[in-house]
Amino acid sequence: MKILENISLLPYNTFGIDIKAEHFAEISNLEDLRAGLRTGIRPVFLLGGGSNVLFTQDVHGLVLKNNLRGIKVVREFKNKVWVEVGAGEVWHEFVLWAVEHNFGGVENMSLIPGTVGASPIQNIGAYGVELKDVFVQLEAVNLSNGKLKTFRHSACRFGYRDSVFKREEKGKWCITSVVFSLTKSPHRLNTSYGDISKTLEINGINTPGIADISRAVVQIRSSKLPDPAKIGNCGSFFKNPETDRNVLDRILKNHPLVPHYPLADGRVKIPAGWLIEQCGWKGKRVGNTGCYERQALVLVNHGGATGEEVKSLAYAIIESVEKQFGIRLEPEVNMV
Ligand SMILES: Cc1cc2nc3c(=O)[nH]c(=O)nc-3n(C[C@H](O)[C@H](O)[C@H](O)COP(=O)(O)OP(=O)(O)OC[C@H]3O[C@@H](n4cnc5c(N)ncnc54)[C@H](O)[C@@H]3O)c2cc1C
Repeated sequence: MKILENISLLPYNTFGIDIKAEHFAEISNLEDLRAGLRTGIRPVFLLGGGSNVLFTQDVHGLVLKNNLRGIKVVREFKNKVWVEVGAGEVWHEFVLWAVEHNFGGVENMSLIPGTVGASPIQNIGAYGVELKDVFVQLEAVNLSNGKLKTFRHSACRFGYRDSVFKREEKGKWCITSVVFSLTKSPHRLNTSYGDISKTLEINGINTPGIADISRAVVQIRSSKLPDPAKIGNCGSFFKNPETDRNVLDRILKNHPLVPHYPLADGRVKIPAGWLIEQCGWKGKRVGNTGCYERQALVLVNHGGATGEEVKSLAYAIIESVEKQFGIRLEPEVNMV
């Protein structure tokens, strides 16, 4: 493992922000990781695919790019398997592997960018399925003493785009592998969310399998979300706010068509994209950055934007939504 100095992170983040890492190394196994920790360079920042980080300034300390690979079945049951996946595996490649082996459970999360190791951090989710629905446990190395620890489901305290790794354990661990529980046929298919059933119908599929669902999700996502290879972005910049019913009632007075979804605890979820659009941000350009024209929830880098520029836009949006609706949006993206 080689430690490089003053390396541009431009190729390593999907926002396309050109900032530098003071020290940078790629790790392919646990020994590389421990060697990196032994250098004593601090702080240590773990980087996966860079699809959920906004770098606002040069990164001090050591950036470790996670390349820990490997996918293997570690336990087999009558109706399911446990699959252990190296943290540096690309998430979508793991999904394709599962579909190819006819293991179900992750097909609705096809085409989410990034690595497997980052997937528990914000409990990734899409089209009615979240990581926590298939998660068994993960292994992680403590960045201060190099020791390996297993985190079971309850220890991760998953929430909506949230886990213990975004809160009290933030920045303390390198996740090295994740174990998933995947179904053998027959699978529990989830086609009720978004445009999945409509797309399956258009594709002429009446009795879908997991491969059909995966393909449908890829089709829908490719038509809606900007490709980071063409226009820098991190997907949804904000979480969808979960608020009390009385806040919704107040909004309904002036906006009777506000979309909202009831939650199990009596509160409601309101799409952040709708709130942002109502404030006039959709498709708006501010300097080199802006709000994506087809989805207001996505902030984009039109070319040459700095992290500070994107951050300023994000806070301008937060202020205006709060002023108009009394709801303070929370960023989903990690600002570094
Ligand atoms: C076009 C687009 C669409 C997206 N759609 C979705 C979606 O539908 N659903 C969804 O949930 N997300 C979505 N995202 C966000 C993103 O894909 C996920 O959050 C993904 O899990 C980030 O993975 P990454 O490897 O790129 O993480 P990075 O951006 O590299 O890192 C994210 C955070 O995790 C930490 N981290 C990364 N790897 C490790 C590790 N091994 N150990 C410890 N900490 C680590 C980093 O330090 C950082 O704080 C989208 C992003 C884009 C660009």
